[in-house]
Amino acid sequence: MIKEKRIFKKENQELIYSLEYKSMKHLRVKVKQGEVIVSAPYGCPVQYIESFLAQHMDTLIQQTQHYEYPVDYKDGGYIDLWGIRRTLHFKNQREIILKDQDLYLPDQLHRLQRWLFIQLRDEIERLIQIYQRQEPHFSVEKIDFKAYQGCWGKCYPRQKKVIFNTSLVYQKKDFVNYVVVHELCHLIHPDHSAAFYQEVAKYCPDYHRLRKEGKL
Ligand SMILES: [Zn+2]
Repeated sequence: MIKEKRIFKKENQELIYSLEYKSMKHLRVKVKQGEVIVSAPYGCPVQYIESFLAQHMDTLIQQTQHYEYPVDYKDGGYIDLWGIRRTLHFKNQREIILKDQDLYLPDQLHRLQRWLFIQLRDEIERLIQIYQRQEPHFSVEKIDFKAYQGCWGKCYPRQKKVIFNTSLVYQKKDFVNYVVVHELCHLIHPDHSAAFYQEVAKYCPDYHRLRKEGKL
């Protein structure tokens, strides 16, 4: 996959987008985490891509501006832990303490990042254990975490391996639950067939709503 950042200008407006060429039939444009991502079939001319962007310029710019970062790292800043905004309070202490809407922590970003990772890992392991008890096919051999840009999770059924996006820690817990169920169900159905969603619905009846909710 080839990926590059480009700037497209139209009159006095400017749009930064990342362009990737893939083996696909049609051009696809999405906005994720405030970033415009264009996927185009190999050989698709840039003029064609940019005329498409020109047509949707206003909507795209609006969508990129709507994105709010889940962390504003400073004393008095915030973090959206499990979809709830918490205020950061830098303290001269080693440990990180969460009290409802407030997070008390030392001013060391790497410690916060490590703490967030542990929160996510524990929650995902907890959920997987619950589902494994209900369905033997959900037994996984490896759970991994990655800072994906374009997806919430991945499943490798043959290796019995599931990988989750580290940004899930900013999402609501019921959405995290949906992602876990989704990836586990791929151990039974590798595709997104009707049978797959039937399996998902068993553990997550609300999946229709949650699927739409997950902004990335
Ligand atoms: Zn899937």
